Amino acid sequence: MSDARIIDGKAIAASVRDEITRRAASLVESQGTRPGLAVVLVGEDPASQVYVRNKDRTAEACGFHSVKHTLDAQTPEADVLALVDQLNNDPSIHGILVQLPLPAHIDESKVLRLIKPEKDVDGFHPVNVGLLTTGERDHALVPCTPAGSLVLLKRTLGDTLSGQNAVVVGRSNIVGKPMASLLLQESCTVTIAHSRTRDLPDVVRAADVVVAAVGRPEMIRGDWIKPGATVIDVGINRIPAPEKGPDRTRLVGDVAFDEAVKHAGAITPVPGGVGPMTIAMLMANTLTAARRQLGLPEETPLF
Ligand code: NAP
Repeated sequence: MSDARIIDGKAIAASVRDEITRRAASLVESQGTRPGLAVVLVGEDPASQVYVRNKDRTAEACGFHSVKHTLDAQTPEADVLALVDQLNNDPSIHGILVQLPLPAHIDESKVLRLIKPEKDVDGFHPVNVGLLTTGERDHALVPCTPAGSLVLLKRTLGDTLSGQNAVVVGRSNIVGKPMASLLLQESCTVTIAHSRTRDLPDVVRAADVVVAAVGRPEMIRGDWIKPGATVIDVGINRIPAPEKGPDRTRLVGDVAFDEAVKHAGAITPVPGGVGPMTIAMLMANTLTAARRQLGLPEETPLF
């Protein structure tokens, strides 16, 4: 069997960002309003700093009004809540994202629940979770990584998702569960696997579509993949790369790419697969939030 088609997340994300930039410009022209995104970072976690910088830069590149709030790691919970409250009431801000994880002394769910659901561009507020799971996706803000994964699947498989066996490995609130909800709404037959799943290789072997969101480097082996299956690898894991030199590292996914590429019909690489889509979908959510807050009709969905 020939090697799988590589799903180019970078190129697809660029096309999504182009469309968002065009739609944002037309919003400015018709309403005089730029979509506004506020990103809140508490503490100095290096990975979070990189994510926040990328979100801020991408928002500016899309023509958005972008605001970054960087707070000291010791900031009291009450101050973080007060900032969220202020952003909730700021009409120039349509989307609020609080970068996770928060320092241990801050109650994450308390902060996330305070964000107005219509400004919750991460899609983690219980109201948005509820709307997604009851099938009212068109009124929800959907978490960015699963939304981006669905765009990749649709660009790869077209409208043929209905009826496919989909296995989502991982049941986090951020990726696994919302991904399963989205696939169910696409009429896939969905299985959610996790650390207690028995005979995981056999479960994965039954899948036409595999979404891996585990956080374990290359755990899913090539011979677990049904020939011709579509594989979306959400995992981002940094592992030692002695071949590049001492103390060097490289990124790998949750799927053993070099093996899986020989079995799959299509597969996302890591990096360059799901990662770029996550930020693109954050921009899509911010634009959607802005239009809804302005009372404008929904545009053609991006997924
Ligand atoms: P998480 O909250 O740690 O959840 C991991 C899930 O994997 C859990 O449901 C866990 O099961 C399951 N799991 C762990 N070990 C397993 C095993 N041996 N067999 C089967 N299932 C197992 O992680 P997450 O936030 O969903 O993230 C998952 C991965 O995606 C990470 O690598 C993360 O860095 C990456 N990620 C990437 C993006 C992106 O933009 N590309 C965004 C978010 C996350 P239990 O529930 O039973 O413990």
